[in-house]
Amino acid sequence: MRSDDTILELRNIRKSYTLRRWPAPAETLRAVDGVSLSVRRGETLGVVGESGCGKSTVGQIASLMLPATAGSLTFKGVTLPAGRVTNRGRLRTQIQYVFQDPYSSLNPRFTIGRLLEDPLAIQRAGGRRERRQQVELMLERIGLDPSFAKRYPHELSGGQRQRIGIARALMLEPEFLVLDEPVSALDVSVQAQILNLLKELQQELALTYLFISHDLNVVHYVSDRVAVMYLGRIVELADVHALYAEPLHPYTQALVASIPAEPGSGPREAPVVEGELPDARRLPEGCAFRTRCPYAHERCGRTPELIEIRPGRQVACHLWTAFQ
Ligand code: ADP
Ligand code: MG
Repeated sequence: MRSDDTILELRNIRKSYTLRRWPAPAETLRAVDGVSLSVRRGETLGVVGESGCGKSTVGQIASLMLPATAGSLTFKGVTLPAGRVTNRGRLRTQIQYVFQDPYSSLNPRFTIGRLLEDPLAIQRAGGRRERRQQVELMLERIGLDPSFAKRYPHELSGGQRQRIGIARALMLEPEFLVLDEPVSALDVSVQAQILNLLKELQQELALTYLFISHDLNVVHYVSDRVAVMYLGRIVELADVHALYAEPLHPYTQALVASIPAEPGSGPREAPVVEGELPDARRLPEGCAFRTRCPYAHERCGRTPELIEIRPGRQVACHLWTAFQ
């Protein structure tokens, strides 16, 4: 169930990396450049944008896997300063991260049963028998026969592996999942099965999702609201229907225009926006999109703030904010 209750809030999150390639002078790369957003309990907030825009970095910070350079995070009323957002014990188990390729995060030498039991064992949750039972229940819940507990990751198909990736994230009964391109490595037909499973699990377990993908069709299908990222910033945030029916930011307009007419008929690798994505080490002054924007103007030399221009609709573009 969606609600207006905020479960997670990011405030002005920044993440920069210092790149040293001696003897060249050190360079700063701004992966995330001031992101603020609220996720409501029970919703799916989609995060979309081209590769390299900072989506995974935001997801890792939101799931307490990566400390930020600046900003703060509030999860269920507990606020953490940006630099200390890792290893938060109990809080950490309530937020889980699902990777694009579960294979790389599943130890190939362990059975599925062991892989699913591990998070419980680490948290010392229940006795051995109880844990085995929980593993069986979870396998059923994600649509696999309990006999899968005896199998190894390499014996599974891509879709089955992603089911295990999701099951593993759910073992500790989290409330919030960060799903980072969870279906991008799968065939289109399998994608739909996994997306439907995620929707069912959300209903049954009252989960909240931050759903990251570069695929606009996938984001459209699963999200209640969508944040569009461009080079480390959110450029637009809106209800999913409003965003796709009437994209307001020129970047969102270009993304939406690039969606192939037939789902699955176009290349799945990347949306097509004219011009090249600037190097994150040398971001343009002001609006980062101005180098590719058909409406670029002198005023775009100043960074546009993300402003709510209509209820529930935020846009960071001088075209829309000039008259506010
Ligand atoms: P996305 O998920 O949207 O593709 P990422 O969050 O992975 O984007 O990356 C955002 C930017 O940060 C990219 O320019 C990427 O190269 C850079 N980046 C990510 N992680 C690191 C790292 N550990 N060190 C240096 N640069 C990084
Ligand atoms: Mg990514």
